[in-house]
Formats: sequence, structure tokens, C-alpha cells
Amino acid sequence: MENAKKELTLQPGKKRRIGVMTSGGDAPGMNGAVRAVVRMSIARGCESYAICEGYEGLVKGGDLIKQMFWEDVRGWISEGGTLIGTARCAEFRERPGRLKGAKNLILKGIDALIICGGDGSLTGADIFRTEWPGLLKELVDTGELTAEQIESHKHLNIVGLVGSIDNDMSMTDATIGAYSSLTRICQAVDFIDSTAFSHSRAFVIEVMGRHCGWLALMASISTGADFVFIPEKPPSEGWHDEMCEIVAEHRRLGKRKTIVIVAEGAIDRELNKITPGMVKDLLANRLGLDTRITTLGHVQRGGSACAYDRMLSTLQGVKAVEAVLAATPETPSYVISIIENKITKKPLMEAVKLTQAVATAIAAKDFDKAISLRDAEFLEYFNCYRTTTMTAKPCLRLPENKRMRIAIVHIGAPAGGMNSATRAAAAYCLTRGHRPFAIHNGFPGLCRHHADSISSVRELSWIEVDGWVSKGGSEIGTNRTLPSEDIGKTAWCFEHYKFDALFVIGGFEAFTSVSELRKARDKYPAFRIPMVVLPATVSNNVPGTEFSIGSDTCLNALIDYCDAIRQSASASRRRVFVVETQGGRSGYVATIAGLSIGAFAVYTPEEGINIGMLARDIDRIRESFANDHGQGRAGKLILRNERASKTYTTEIIANMIREEAKGRFESRFAIPGHVQQGGSPSPMDRVRAVRLAVKCMQFLEQEGQMETAVIGIKGSKVVFSPMEEVERDETDWAERRPKLEFWMGLRDVADTLSGRFRPVPVTEPPAEPGLYDCM
Ligand code: ADP
Repeated sequence: MENAKKELTLQPGKKRRIGVMTSGGDAPGMNGAVRAVVRMSIARGCESYAICEGYEGLVKGGDLIKQMFWEDVRGWISEGGTLIGTARCAEFRERPGRLKGAKNLILKGIDALIICGGDGSLTGADIFRTEWPGLLKELVDTGELTAEQIESHKHLNIVGLVGSIDNDMSMTDATIGAYSSLTRICQAVDFIDSTAFSHSRAFVIEVMGRHCGWLALMASISTGADFVFIPEKPPSEGWHDEMCEIVAEHRRLGKRKTIVIVAEGAIDRELNKITPGMVKDLLANRLGLDTRITTLGHVQRGGSACAYDRMLSTLQGVKAVEAVLAATPETPSYVISIIENKITKKPLMEAVKLTQAVATAIAAKDFDKAISLRDAEFLEYFNCYRTTTMTAKPCLRLPENKRMRIAIVHIGAPAGGMNSATRAAAAYCLTRGHRPFAIHNGFPGLCRHHADSISSVRELSWIEVDGWVSKGGSEIGTNRTLPSEDIGKTAWCFEHYKFDALFVIGGFEAFTSVSELRKARDKYPAFRIPMVVLPATVSNNVPGTEFSIGSDTCLNALIDYCDAIRQSASASRRRVFVVETQGGRSGYVATIAGLSIGAFAVYTPEEGINIGMLARDIDRIRESFANDHGQGRAGKLILRNERASKTYTTEIIANMIREEAKGRFESRFAIPGHVQQGGSPSPMDRVRAVRLAVKCMQFLEQEGQMETAVIGIKGSKVVFSPMEEVERDETDWAERRPKLEFWMGLRDVADTLSGRFRPVPVTEPPAEPGLYDCM
């Protein structure tokens, strides 16, 4: 075996060797990135090597740089932390340490490196790359390596992936791990919330973020905290008074609990630290509140990655392999980023410099610059938070003649985040002086009102909506029925309540409802008001957007369910589970959940199911079980969308697999059903609901606005698309989904990474010395 290893290192084959490393602080999702890099490297005909323990492994070499095989990363996507280890390495900061690193890479024949870490790790990688030719020259000059050994490795290509729970890197909206950490924080605050309510207490909660307030700000938006302290935007000089006024106002309105979130690095405008203790003393002494401090600590790093991080790390890992293979000595080092919904590559050192400029701007007390250097989303979220929290500020009111009566209605099935959006819209209205009216139970609720004289249209107050931020379902009630059921009565009600604008939250029916109202404008003047749809549905099938509120909650519910099933499958080896997902006639949920759990196959309505496909998949499963030599404990999962086929039901597919397995493996089916609507909405759904709802309100209040539109995330942008255009150009009415579904391209990635369309993988190193090199 030793011989074999030596042969392997000294005689690199023709295959390109790509190294992957995790470095700096660990973050949920790093394992997903490593899995994607390993498998995509192999799928692209390269060999994959893990550099264990961060730069420590690079400097020490030997067994810390080890070849990775397809099966080595099986099940990694569901694991927290980083399984290849991480460490801080002082030696790598100095040239002699990097010299050792270069030698170790050459010995293994590696000249392409993908590093998942924070800005420190990525800076180190860029320095390493720049120094590489000089390091090799020195190694040859000193006789540590021969000229032949370095001959085909003259350039080092590196690509960065940002793994950091703080979300502290510029030029990307999200870093791998940030949303998982936010999920942990929100769970904790939601728990604290109930005890705070019971005792009418105040809690000051410290969250991580020494230089970046993203976690603190997003947690405050997601949980409806009363006040937040972040380093990039310190509060104004009189913050003691301001915080106490806001908390006192919320108490005066009837709120029984107070939550203040403090980032670890919170400071005032003079750069003095603002500590949880200081905030506690103020709340206790000035307002007389029974106040406790909770420091969340390392809980924030722990646990399995949330759906978004699994998808992000997987897709970014794939992109990183592409980028490292495409790199040339002339191209800059890249970091893989995401802007809204688009994964892209950016010049690494530019991103690092911008990130470091934030700290410089803070130190220079230039806070406007500090926040502007974060991504554009950050300031927008900050402003959303302020306008939905400071409803009592008279300076934010519009003049009387610009104030409107805005109707809010939920249409279709409930989806996580509908309540968060309603709360944000109502709070924004109150801040600006508009009057928010909830239409209860959809359009039938509105029309029935005059029949049974129970008012289904009620003005929303701040205290009524405040607690809705973390609630699943629909507090104002939702209904699928379209306004065309009684369009005349609907128009009469619009006129009766003098609605000046309409905000519709829901799925495909919400979209269809606004389409009907728009078309009825000629006949009914009551509908000649601005209207906007905020897509909210687990199915994510609304035209005009790539993201619907509620779909992230659904994905998280589904991956939790599938992780539990996988656990059961790993106890009884060689089991295939067929899980039925929701999604209507859109395969989005099935595909993205499949990508996030590493499902073997995904069956969608877009593609359908046929006998050839099933036969091929069963053959692949059979081969895969035959090849794993009893090593692969985790069972296989297949996701089938509820409408993928009328004939091949979930149960039938499970039965067919069992029949064909002939006792060599087992099969079961499972249908999570409405579990997929989720309990409490995910933080991503909550924060996006708030941001998009506030944008919708701003759209409605624009001077002379008469448009009907749908708000959506398209690629790297948030856009309002006119209904008429979306109805005509983007909607597949028969199939109730967008004509072009952005995620269709991801199916190939999912199939490649799951091994569904791949030759039988080499699963293990050889048992006999030397054998490996002959293969
Ligand atoms: P993060 O990557 O999370 O920002 P650190 O800043 O601690 O974490 O960096 C992790 C490791 O990256 C360090 O221990 C060191 O080995 C390497 N590193 C960081 N900065 C540099 C640098 N300027 N030059 C060389 N290596 C560096």
C-alpha cells in the first residue's frame, strides 16, 4: 500500500488533480461544497484531493492531502461543520510555510485549488498563487524538487468559495453558512419570545458578528425585534433615548415582550463598544423592565445546513470546478458569489479589498461608506427594518393627500411568510400614514360580508400584526376562489370600502385573480387602482419570479423529513425510499429538494416518467448497491413530484423497485403531504417577505401609479413586471407555471452529482499494492 501511494505521488497520471480545502471558521454548508467539488471534479474527468485541516494540511502534507473518491462524500450534504477539518495556521502566513505547501502540492501533482473559507483564507490563497512561480523556482534551486517535477505545474489556479456564518464578504449576497446560522438564531429567539411574552420580560440577545451586523439585522427582521445594534450603522448619538422611546411606544401599544438584538461588534458613533449589559441596564433602570441577557454563542455555528446553504454550496462548488478548469495564468483569481438568484464569479481580491474597506470605514467613523460597501441588499434591509419598526415617527408620514386605503388579501394555499409580508406591509402603511385593510378569507370573504353582515374587511392595527412575523399559515385567512366568481360584487365592495390600492399575496391563483381584475377594469372603475402581486406559494410556480415566499420553508420542511428518512434507511442498509413532494405541475420543489439532499433521482411533471427511465434508474441503483461493497450505509432517495405521472404513482414506483431488486435491496414510499407547508416560516422567507412587501408598498404609493404588476426576483434583480406582459409572454396557463423555469438547467447538475448518469464509479482504493496505478 505504501508503494502504491508513492507511485501515485511521483507519477501523476494524465488526469488533472484538483485540491479542495476548508479553512478559517467552520460553517454549515462547507461539506456540501466539498461534496460538490469532489464529485464534479471526478465527473469532469479529474482526480480530487482533500487538503485536510486547512492550510495546516497544506504545510504538513503527507496523509493530510488525500485522494477523494465518489463514495467518500456520500451523505455529506446533510452533515454540519466540515468533515475534512479546518484550522488556523500561522505558518502559512509566512513564506517558508507557503514554500512547504507548494512542495506538498507538487508532490501530489496538484495545481488547482478550491478553498472554502473567509476573507483571511482567500487572501492567503491569492498570495500563494501570486508567489507560486517564485516558490517553485526556489524549490528547484535548492534541490527540493526537480525541474521535471514542476514542468507541467507552472501555474497554480485557485478559486474561492466563501464559507462564513457572518455573511461578511462584499460582492456576494450570501456566504455559505449564513442562512443556516440565521436559522439557529431565529429558532432561539422564537423560543425566548414565548417566555418573554409569558413574563412580560425584556431580553437582550447577543449574536455573532464582530465586524458584520448581517446576522443581527436579519435576526431582528425575522423575529420582529424592537431594536438592533450593528457595527456598520451605529445608532445616533442619543441612542439611549431613541431605544427607550421605541420600546416604550411598543409597550404603550400593548406589546408584552421586548427583544433587543446586539451584534458582538456593536459600537456607537465614537467607536465605543455597546454591550448587552449596557442595554440591559437601560431597559431595567429607565423603563423598569424585568430584563435578561442571552448570549447565543456557538449554537449559532452548529447543526446541519439549511436548504438554501445546501443548494448554494452545491451550485457554487460546481461553479468553482468550472472556474478552476477555465482559469489561465492571465485570469485573476475568482471567488464564487451569488447576487439575488444568480451564481456568478467575481475577482477575488476586489471582493476581499471591499470587505476590508468596511472595517477601515468603520474605524474612520465613515458609517455611510461602511454600509454602502456591503451588498446593496444590506442597506435596503436596514431601511425596511427601520420603517417597519418605527411606526410612531411623524417625520416619515406622507402628506394627507398622498395617504391611501390599501387592501391586503391572501389567495390560494397558505405559505410560510404570508403573515410576515402582511405585517411588514401594515407596519409600513402605518409609518407612512396609509390605512391598511385586511380582506379576510379571500374574495369569497369580501363578497359574503354583505350577506351575513360580519365585516370581513378590517383595518389592521400595529399590535394586531406585530406577533405575526414568525407565524406560519395565514392569519387573515386565505381562499382559492377567484374574483370572477362574483366580479360585480367584488367591484361593489372595492367601491364601498374606497380602496385606493390592492396588495395580493399568494400563488398562481393570486396571479390569476389580479389578471382577472385587470381585465375587468374597462367595465368596473373600482378596479382602476394600482395592484401588485407578491408571489407566495410552496410550489414556486408563479410567472414573473424565480422565487415565491414560502418555497424556502417548504424546502426546509422537506429536507428535514428526508434527512429523518435517510437516517432510518441507514439503520436498515440497502433501502430505497421514494418520497412524494408537492409542487403542483412544477417540479421546482422536487428538483431543489433533490439537489439539497443528494437524491438519486427526481421525477418532475415537466419531464414525466416513462418505463425506460424507470428501468434505467433501477439498473443504476442495482449497480450502485453492487459496487459499494457494503460500505454505503445511507439509503437512496428518489423524489417524485405529486403530478409527475398519472400511471407511475409513488407507491407503484416503490413496488417496481422492490420487485426488480429481487431481494438484493428494499424499497419503501413516503408522502409528507401538508408537512411541506412548514410550521414556522424559514428566516429566508421571513426576511424576503418583509423586503418584498415593503417594495410593493413603495410601488403602490408612487405618484400617479395605475399599474398592475407582479414583483419578482429574476436573475440578479428584483423587478416589477407589468401583469399584461407576464400574462402574455411568460405564462403557461394550461400547466399553471412559468413558460421558462429557471431551475430546469439544474436537473443535469443534480443527476451528475447523484451519480444517476455516470459510469460506475471507482469506489475504493485497491486492496493490493500497485493495483491502483494499473487501473
Ligand atoms: P477566515 O478565513 O475565516 O477569515 P482567518 O483570517 O483566521 O479566517 O484565516 C484562516 C487562515 O488563512 C489563517 O490561519 C492563515 O493560515 C491563512 N491566512 C489568513 N490571512 C492570510 C494572509 N494574509 N496570508 C497568508 N495566509 C493567510
